[in-house]
Amino acid sequence: SSSSSSSQGASAITKQELKRYDRTDFSWSDEAQRHLHDTFHLREFRPLQLRAINLTMSSKDLFLVMPTGRGKSLCYQLPALCSPGFTLVVTPLVSLMEDQIMFLCSLEVPAAMLNASSSKEHAKTVMAAMADPKSPFKLIYVTPEKIAKSKLLMSRLEKAYKAQLLSRIAVDEVHCCSQWGHDFRPDYKMLGILKRQFPQVPLLGLTATATSSVLQDCEKILNVSQPLTLTASFNRTNLYYEVRFKASDRDGSLNDMASLIKRKYLGQSGIVYVFSQKDAETVSSELQKQDIVAYPYHSNMDAKDKSRVHRKWTSNKIQVVVATVAFGMGIDKPNVRFVIHHTISKSIENYYQESGRAGRDDLPADCIVYYGFADIFRISTMVVMESVGQQKLLQMVDYCQTVDRCRRSLMAVHFDEVWEEKDCNQMCDTCRHRNDYNSVDISPHARQVVQILELAASQDEKLTPLKLLEAWSGKGPAKHRKMIQITTLGRHDAEAVLVRMLLLGYLREDFSFTPYTTHFYLKLGRKAPLLKSATHRLSMNMRSSGAAVKLRVVGDKERSKEPKPAGQSSEDGPESKKAKRGLS
Ligand code: ADP
Ligand code: MG
Ligand code: ZN
Repeated sequence: SSSSSSSQGASAITKQELKRYDRTDFSWSDEAQRHLHDTFHLREFRPLQLRAINLTMSSKDLFLVMPTGRGKSLCYQLPALCSPGFTLVVTPLVSLMEDQIMFLCSLEVPAAMLNASSSKEHAKTVMAAMADPKSPFKLIYVTPEKIAKSKLLMSRLEKAYKAQLLSRIAVDEVHCCSQWGHDFRPDYKMLGILKRQFPQVPLLGLTATATSSVLQDCEKILNVSQPLTLTASFNRTNLYYEVRFKASDRDGSLNDMASLIKRKYLGQSGIVYVFSQKDAETVSSELQKQDIVAYPYHSNMDAKDKSRVHRKWTSNKIQVVVATVAFGMGIDKPNVRFVIHHTISKSIENYYQESGRAGRDDLPADCIVYYGFADIFRISTMVVMESVGQQKLLQMVDYCQTVDRCRRSLMAVHFDEVWEEKDCNQMCDTCRHRNDYNSVDISPHARQVVQILELAASQDEKLTPLKLLEAWSGKGPAKHRKMIQITTLGRHDAEAVLVRMLLLGYLREDFSFTPYTTHFYLKLGRKAPLLKSATHRLSMNMRSSGAAVKLRVVGDKERSKEPKPAGQSSEDGPESKKAKRGLS
């Protein structure tokens, strides 16, 4: 099953009782079903939508936690149509509000909004409508600062409440209440007034990102006592996750990507995420050279150009948007068949969000990330100021390095969930290549690296990852070459060893700042001294196809290659074998 639910708080509706809210024989059930089809033009409810709607229609206070794009809005929009009066919706951003009003308008659902830029005239009309039983508005959107600052609005809401026209309060992005969340907004702190003044009105809080401590905080701030919490699984079962290796010396990913887009994804819509604005320009022009209709998107473009690219992509006139992460909010295209990361994301959470824009229509879609050694350090210098930025980046690197565990199970821990590997259904590359890896002993190689760094330190020299690689492969200054052991490993394996050492703490990162840039160096980590002992061993798992030829396989762990399941990799381009080599 793709979703689960849990109830928290002392109101403790049991699982059994919760199940009752999946029924379709409530007094509003027929009307709800009719609106689903005729107003929203949707075929059926997604997991937990019906339950959430029945709970809020039953006047329960409810927190709904669901991944972005799963359809939280429907859980208050549809009940609004089945209830008298109107639903008050609190939304943090005017742009989100405008999107919703436009959407509802296209469905002929009467809705209005109040924000800082509303004209006096408009505000007057909307506020008057609140206490008017003949008002057409079923949903009224407001920003939190309106609630915090407008006495007039509060007095109108009082009036509506007394007239029993305020049927429900929806607080979107409810995690903004909590200072522990990632997106705290001070005005959300004031929303406690709503439940205090309107205790009889059911409140529905919605979010895609909330841990239980954040939710507890929201509960206090909003003055709701013992709300129910429904949590949908974050496991996107229709998405196929894959990591491909990207060579550092030349951008081999470009040809690989182009051939994927031209063959496997011919005529299908997708996003390529890149690291920088410059990359957005260069990668899109490279793809254009290969006759792919690709356009860049980044925050340095004119608003006009950005919305043009977005619009043309939405209407399938552009196949691929090559974008920085600025391309994200408000993207609600259902038929995105692939999201390719030309560069790794800065954290697994970010990767989940960005790749999650694929397959919103529940049909199969691919999420591919190209993983290259040099990119780690490009991103490292970017996240250096974030308190746990480095740690999160290394988790992403670890996700990419891993060859022996389901990619889903690696993601799940970041959502406090457990997704069983068996539930992956071979919808990730590691599950498909289940036994295609070897455990190799990298201790002798790691000792060589330590020797180089010790030598550098003794000469008061700092080594960037690239300089370290050069020294190790005998391309450094002549004075070094005599004193160190030059590696027999190919570039890719050498990089893999360095990353493994970094992940395990045998190496660590070191930064230095100049007025213009941040420099990134590799140094010995806290575990490096362990390698002094001749018996200390360090191993790593590597794909057996292709790479690791020079690396000694540990013990009897050599595994037999299983035939690949039918129906995959045959449609990959000719470049993909090369790109998949080794780490991936
Ligand atoms: P969220 O707020 O959870 O990020 P939205 O409410 O904005 O998501 O909905 C995302 C998209 O999912 C919208 O295009 C919406 O029309 C669509 N959607 C919602 N419910 C369903 C459903 N039951 N079946 C198909 N599509 C749905
Ligand atoms: Mg939403
Ligand atoms: Zn898997």
